Amino acid sequence: MSEMKLIAVIGATGAQGGGLARAILAHPEAGFKLRAITRNPDSEKARALANAGAEVVAADLDDLASLERAFAGAHGAFCVTNYWEHFSVDKELQQAQNLANAAKAAGVEHVIWSTLEDTRKWVPLESDQMPTLMEKYKVPHFDSKGQANAYFAEVPTTFFLTSFYWDNFIHFGLGPQPGPDGVLGITFPLGDTKMPCIAAEDIGKCALGIFKGGSEYIGKTVGVSGEHISGAEMAAEFTKALGQEVRYNAVEPSVYRSFGFPGADDLGNMFQFKRDFNDYYRGARSVDFSRTLNPDLQSFSQWLAGNLEGVKGTLTAKS
Ligand code: NAP
Repeated sequence: MSEMKLIAVIGATGAQGGGLARAILAHPEAGFKLRAITRNPDSEKARALANAGAEVVAADLDDLASLERAFAGAHGAFCVTNYWEHFSVDKELQQAQNLANAAKAAGVEHVIWSTLEDTRKWVPLESDQMPTLMEKYKVPHFDSKGQANAYFAEVPTTFFLTSFYWDNFIHFGLGPQPGPDGVLGITFPLGDTKMPCIAAEDIGKCALGIFKGGSEYIGKTVGVSGEHISGAEMAAEFTKALGQEVRYNAVEPSVYRSFGFPGADDLGNMFQFKRDFNDYYRGARSVDFSRTLNPDLQSFSQWLAGNLEGVKGTLTAKS
């Protein structure tokens, strides 16, 4: 048997990288072995990966030399940044640049860069379609990732467009919440448009499909999603699964931006981008194509069936 190719996975203790880490470990026949990268090899999640057969290596996205060491000898690298840890575009840009430079220095043959659109290509800063945020951005956590694509120009890279994770209903505070009348609701400024969404775990499984495809995907932009689904359709699935009414509150983006939680303005602009450029946004994230990368791809009802207890836990926690 030929030698296993090493894949270094940033964010291996998180949602996107964790899905890829578990997929690599579950499919040795794909020919890859895992180097899980974390700031803290002693964490419970890092130790679980080590116990499952991963090499665990410490590195920090803010420390270029640590990334060069972590990428040394790797055939592939999965690169992701976590904007929501610091809410700083400048920091995310620097971390992405460190990733690209480290991959180049280590001679990595295939990088997957988990990116998103620079929405300023669709909504110029001077447009009043949506407010400009932080003086230079329309959707800061999208624009920074899209801007950072340029850093990967001299690295063999697949530009990997992800979608809204349904896991946000459990881990990001976006799950059903009681309205003034006590009826549960989910709230999005999407009107009746459908939004490409995905189970976070499936992002990593799709990434494994990209590493398997190898040169077929280098230099390409590849978008993934598990289902294109409207707010009303998700509310109906919640109603069925929870056995109590969940309604869809379709608010205007300006209302969503005013909700006041950290990042509400960024997310309000993000959902508006998905609504206003719906044909483009959906076209870039084909479910059929995603299934060719990951035959186990889940729909919303499948994800909900597997995560019902987690969703119910958020309801209990609130009441
Ligand atoms: P996550 O589950 O919150 O986990 C973050 C991961 O990043 C952890 O594994 C953490 O590792 C690692 N990490 C963070 N800072 C690091 C640093 N300085 N050095 C080394 N590792 C670091 O993250 P995720 O959800 O997979 O990815 C977050 C990104 O996904 C965000 O930028 C967001 O914009 C994007 N995104 C989110 C969605 C969504 O619907 N939520 C959709 C599309 C894209 P350790 O803590 O172990 O070091």
